[in-house]
Amino acid sequence: MNKEKQIMPEQKPEERIKNFDEVSLGFSSDMAVLEAQRCLQCKNSPCVQGCPVNVNIPAFISKIRDEKFLDAYGIIKGTNSLPAVCGRVCPQESQCEERCVLRNKFGSVSIGKLERFVADHERNTENVLEIRDTEKTGKRVAVVGSGPAGLTAAGELISMGHDVTVFEALHSPGGVLVYGIPEFRLPKDIVHYEIDALVRAGVEIVTNRVIGISESLDDLLEKYDAVFIGTGAGLPSFLNIPGENLQGVYSANEYLTRINLMKAYMFPEYDTPVIRGRRVTVLGGGNVAMDSARTALRLGSEEVHLVYRRSMEEMPARTEEIHHAEEEGVIFDLLANPVEFLGDENGHLKSVRCIRMQLGAPDDSGRRRPTEVEGSEFEIETDVAIVAVGNGPNPIVQRSTPGMETSRRGNIVVDGRTMRTSKKGVFAGGDIVSGAATVIEAMGAGRNAASSIDEYLKTGQW
Ligand code: FAD
Ligand code: SF4
Ligand code: SF4
Repeated sequence: MNKEKQIMPEQKPEERIKNFDEVSLGFSSDMAVLEAQRCLQCKNSPCVQGCPVNVNIPAFISKIRDEKFLDAYGIIKGTNSLPAVCGRVCPQESQCEERCVLRNKFGSVSIGKLERFVADHERNTENVLEIRDTEKTGKRVAVVGSGPAGLTAAGELISMGHDVTVFEALHSPGGVLVYGIPEFRLPKDIVHYEIDALVRAGVEIVTNRVIGISESLDDLLEKYDAVFIGTGAGLPSFLNIPGENLQGVYSANEYLTRINLMKAYMFPEYDTPVIRGRRVTVLGGGNVAMDSARTALRLGSEEVHLVYRRSMEEMPARTEEIHHAEEEGVIFDLLANPVEFLGDENGHLKSVRCIRMQLGAPDDSGRRRPTEVEGSEFEIETDVAIVAVGNGPNPIVQRSTPGMETSRRGNIVVDGRTMRTSKKGVFAGGDIVSGAATVIEAMGAGRNAASSIDEYLKTGQW
């Protein structure tokens, strides 16, 4: 066994904070083969059990070892329709790689990075998008939302012979993959490549169409035999503290959408402005907070603080993102919570008042509950604050659809096995059902829903 883990080259921190190019540069073929040689080809493959879509990990790694990269790609594509995306953004450390038998002694095989290598190799050198000639069923399915859940459902359904139309509220399809996750973590040409493949396979994509406003779900049910809802969790939560309406306070959603989707970092070439801010404070400790802080640095901010109410151990962001943010110079203000935004006489933000926290007994989530330390308030001078404290379900479809059962939080309720909603012919999956989760879980839900839709269309039974 080759024990030495291959280290993927990266742009140096001092260089990369001056651009929006991808941070990790990818394995060369030689590095990929060497990394693949570390895999023990375990018979019971615990790594596969850690993957929400059960990619056949030892099989694809064995093909890399034999330098049969395209065969490896075919194996991954069997269960994962977006390997170039998952290889980059999956929380591998808590999924497939967490279960790798080599983890404790030598470090897990870099399964995600190998997946990324194989998908990049296909896209950059082979470009063999397979378009299957499937017999048409004559059934029509509408997909609402074009994030990973909707795109996966659309890809599966078209390959089953159904006609598929995707309706997307924004002007560009891709969901969080295009409007949320920044270019330096997930280059947009990768997402566009996957979407082009769906279009070439026959999926129709209609953008700028908000279902529930332009037309209702019931209108769609008159024209389509089934509907899949994958509208995601894009409704930002706020802190509800004084001063949140001051100029310079953004929700992370608005901030990242302006920059990623509407290219505000290229103003005035693109006509979306964004306040850049010399000093920026991000509130929150998840991937969204990390993306916001690292984006602010790339926009030229001199000082970027990240305020999180628990300690580093409880931070929900991916370990790799925290590490990259630290390397790039983000200042972590841990065990602190914002209590007020303070402004000047013109209504512009000038500082965030915070209070120190301490950790008490574990709460319902098992994490230690933070409580305020009396009299410990302090201020961080700030021109721009970005609130990244969570997202709720996009509400428009539920609100405009009589008879659609939702949870207390407003998520659509489905049968866990069939993904059926309370409305006949309507299925749902991804963040709109689970609450904010991960790309691969949304894809898994889209895939399950597609097979249930297929069964419903064939049998007509509900
Ligand atoms: P979404 O991706 O949210 O897509 C839903 C789509 O539906 C959107 O395009 C929306 O415009 C559209 N829509 C909504 N309402 C309507 C309507 N009424 N009519 C028509 N269209 C509508 N996950 C990871 O695994 N790894 C990461 O590193 C990671 N980083 C993240 C960083 C950020 C900044 C964010 C916000 C999320 C991140 N996530 C990450 C989470 C992940 O992106 C989501 O779990 C995933 O995208 C959910 O997919 P989805 O298809 O359910 O919804
Ligand atoms: Fe691991 Fe994600 Fe690939 Fe599954 S899809 S093998 S969890 S990187
Ligand atoms: Fe290879 Fe690790 Fe999976 Fe074993 S657990 S098959 S070593 S990747």
